[in-house]
Amino acid sequence: MDLATSGNTVNVSAALATLEPLGPDQYCIAFGPGATRFFATPNGYSATKLPRKIENDLLGGEIKKVLHASFGSDADSFFFTYEMKSGSVAHRAGKAIPAALDSFVKHISAISEEHTSALRVLLGAYGSYIAWAGAVWISHGIPAQLYGALRGSSFVTDKNYNEHEGKLRTGVIDNVAWHGNGSWFLQNGRSVHNLTHAPTPRIVQEAFLGLCKCMASDDIVNPSSSIAYIAINPHSATGETFAFFVKIWNGQAPEFVLRFEPEEIVSRLHLKEKELSTSVNPKPNRQTSLDLTIPQKGVNGLQVFQWGVSRHTGRSHLTDSWELELKKGERVKILKHMGNDWFLAENRRNQRGWVHKTLLDFQDFTPHADPREAYARFSADIDKLMKVGNIRSFPNLANYMNSCAKAGCSTLKKDPQRLSICVHDLHELMRGVGVYTLDTLKAERNKWHPDRFARYCHPDHRDILTEKAQALFVLFGVIMDMLVNPPAPEPAA
Ligand SMILES: [Zn+2]
Repeated sequence: MDLATSGNTVNVSAALATLEPLGPDQYCIAFGPGATRFFATPNGYSATKLPRKIENDLLGGEIKKVLHASFGSDADSFFFTYEMKSGSVAHRAGKAIPAALDSFVKHISAISEEHTSALRVLLGAYGSYIAWAGAVWISHGIPAQLYGALRGSSFVTDKNYNEHEGKLRTGVIDNVAWHGNGSWFLQNGRSVHNLTHAPTPRIVQEAFLGLCKCMASDDIVNPSSSIAYIAINPHSATGETFAFFVKIWNGQAPEFVLRFEPEEIVSRLHLKEKELSTSVNPKPNRQTSLDLTIPQKGVNGLQVFQWGVSRHTGRSHLTDSWELELKKGERVKILKHMGNDWFLAENRRNQRGWVHKTLLDFQDFTPHADPREAYARFSADIDKLMKVGNIRSFPNLANYMNSCAKAGCSTLKKDPQRLSICVHDLHELMRGVGVYTLDTLKAERNKWHPDRFARYCHPDHRDILTEKAQALFVLFGVIMDMLVNPPAPEPAA
């Protein structure tokens, strides 16, 4: 079949070139297993390795437009929707589409021509699918969260395990995308999705946030009104092949972010003028607008970030899942200023999203490393130091954490006779330990017990070094006490 397909490639390309392109903001990006692809955009069509049946349809000369396409895991599992030159809408289903889906298609097609026109079938990997016609839908094997989102706004009948049928209470389904890794997107008037946090792969999160960034500022409140189309390749092993399109804005060329593995991300995103004028980092970097991280290299090679503490629990717009969900008192890492007082931030659970400035308190912290990275470096260095022994100088602890900007502490930290770390910095550094418990802190403290530490010191420097170890031992005692009797005003993350 492969040989026959390649023999037809030239003719199929010629046939695709004669079709009428889709209208503005209309897209269909369909990925199949292997090299099979079918793309329809307002600029025309492209395809590789199409099933023979589809090639024959295209070569038949009766098709005006291809409205929709999708491919399942099996070579004979595919579904295409055509607008014919006669004006009717026709479907072409592969022999291997699931039986329940086949009956749904037949059922819908029998109701009316309107239903036939509205029918869309989206096949995923491993026999998963969603099909819908207006408000009526059927699904099998889709991510639990996506099903939950559909279920929440529908009357539902569960048919079998993992197979469901439903009808939206209001509105119709416009678009759906998902991957077996759990990432998903649903557009039914508004859009709901989990594209800004796990389990969505990091590269997809960043691409999606980059897309949000370029939307008109009014749409920051309601991004769904700006998204034209989202596709995720369900057959990619990683879930990192995708295509995101923004609706045409102000007559500009369509904006998009897409990645077809193994190639790099390709994007055409324009920052809106309003954002550019208020951004603290106003350089309009059109080519690399996906470069979202702005950490600077600090001492000891650790990357340094600005941190903020959440003033509230929740997010300012409850339904906007691109906003980071916050817990009051939680510390978040600022990754980038996005303009208009919005930041891209990351919480301790590695979830990323947008946070408005008014929700954050920047307190007395200066930019500093992620405690998890800082602690890992600190721990490895100290273990090595003690293994080698013969210590001649006390480690410079400010290299690992130097976050406290309190005036008194800054003076103390600069005094070479003293430790280069204050109790606030030690607390911040120890937040990076996996499990912040009394036992963990006790184990860390014991490394600095002066009697024990003295054994690792060079005899010439032993006295002065054990004195510093003693001071650190005491400082650990203070944060242990803080854990048992937390001071009221200090927010704990
Ligand atoms: Zn301090």
